[in-house]
Amino acid sequence: MAYEVVIGLEAHAQLLTASKMFCGCSTAFGAAPNTQTCPVCLGMPGVLPVINQKAVEFAIRTGLALNCTIATMNRFARKNYFYPDLPKGYQISQYELPICQAGWVEIGENGTAKRIRIRRAHLEEDAGKNLHTGIAGASHVDLNRAGTPLLEIVTEPDMRSPDEAVAYLKKLRDILVYLEVCDGNMEEGSLRCEPNLSLRQAGSKEFGTKVELKNINSFKFAKAAMEYEIKRQTKVLSEGGKIVQETRLWDPEKGETAPMRSKEEAHDYRYFPDPDLVPLRITPEMVEEARKALPELPEAIYKRFMEEYGLPEYDADVLTSAKALAKFFEDTVKAQAEATALSGKDLGKETSNWVMVELLGLLHKGKPKADGGTEPWTIEQDPYEQSPVRPQGLAELLVMKRKGEISGPIAKSVLEEMFNTGKTAAEIIKAKGLTQMSDEGALEEIIDEVMAKNPQQLAQYRGGKEQVFGFFMGQVMKASGGKANPTKVNELLKRKLAG
Ligand SMILES: [Zn+2]
Repeated sequence: MAYEVVIGLEAHAQLLTASKMFCGCSTAFGAAPNTQTCPVCLGMPGVLPVINQKAVEFAIRTGLALNCTIATMNRFARKNYFYPDLPKGYQISQYELPICQAGWVEIGENGTAKRIRIRRAHLEEDAGKNLHTGIAGASHVDLNRAGTPLLEIVTEPDMRSPDEAVAYLKKLRDILVYLEVCDGNMEEGSLRCEPNLSLRQAGSKEFGTKVELKNINSFKFAKAAMEYEIKRQTKVLSEGGKIVQETRLWDPEKGETAPMRSKEEAHDYRYFPDPDLVPLRITPEMVEEARKALPELPEAIYKRFMEEYGLPEYDADVLTSAKALAKFFEDTVKAQAEATALSGKDLGKETSNWVMVELLGLLHKGKPKADGGTEPWTIEQDPYEQSPVRPQGLAELLVMKRKGEISGPIAKSVLEEMFNTGKTAAEIIKAKGLTQMSDEGALEEIIDEVMAKNPQQLAQYRGGKEQVFGFFMGQVMKASGGKANPTKVNELLKRKLAG
């Protein structure tokens, strides 16, 4: 029997606020355990939570980018459950009145684009972290993370394959990073995703029983976990069995999912409005202000790059895969435009080639070390922002190449040296005498020498064998150490060889 896969996704994005959701404690990652806590986030009796305004602004910004309606009336609720990393015995979340509602995100290329509907996105606080270190068989609790603001983003079950789910997740991550509301770092847990997946008979309108997947901290694991789950559920169903509604944990070592707990229903949590927090009213002015402050999103930049710089889809896609990379490309074009009075369309494709092929090739090798060689970039480093070659420097190099001062192959080797040493193109070219030879007298001298050394080939050429021209081009370029201006050599050589 053929089954159709149905996937929905919940994502938790940790918001990049300096302080926690309901108190002033720092949200910085990596501090010693329990050093970033206070009576509010420890859940002491008698304390009062205060809503973090920045977190609300970030939620509105995200909601607008996800095409959601922003709720004017918001309420925070208590979600009750017991766990050692939750000293209050409840998590403050949003239940009936989430801040963002009914939006959508588009995935896929132009022409095959598909909308994934966003059901809701709501604000909540994170729990602490249990550490099972095994020292004397003990477990410890670190409450630094308790109270960190999260935005939980929930889709409708609109995805039909693991590839679609990963495409959505990547798109969501891009948007969050572009908006500067979340760093999108999955390994550190600042973006966590929980796919829910079910199978149904192909053509059926009813949904099958769904299973929720947890413990996924990379796109790769997300795809592998969903693929495993499809195989497992297909086997159960085709053998006449039933799927149990449950939460399953992905085990990356074994490459399989295992039951974690039976799925809880909303009523298990005994939600009720938090009596310590008044309803939060969001005015149209607040929404308008957030809309004005929205940065340009990847999709808009992608389209603009094709129109403004005449880039093919592939280039626009690669260059907008990261905000800092898109900026690098655009700054490089602008710096050249200022120096040459050429337009974005004139400069776009060539600049794109140099950034995508040459610069990314160098960045891919790693970060250059002072004593030579490279070391891998760390998670905290952004290679595009910390590349030793900056847009201004690359632009200078490309302008020199365009003016014919240096040849293309020389420009490539100069770029590599700029990358490794941090020197400017002009410094390197001057120190090594790499300026392209365009002086006709000097070039003619070389050509005469090459012709004298190769009488046989010369006779062949003059006898009508025109393909020998390439041989002479090569010899002259070689004799000049790669510095001869090829256009000039071509011109002079044709004249000289004709005799
Ligand atoms: Zn606190």
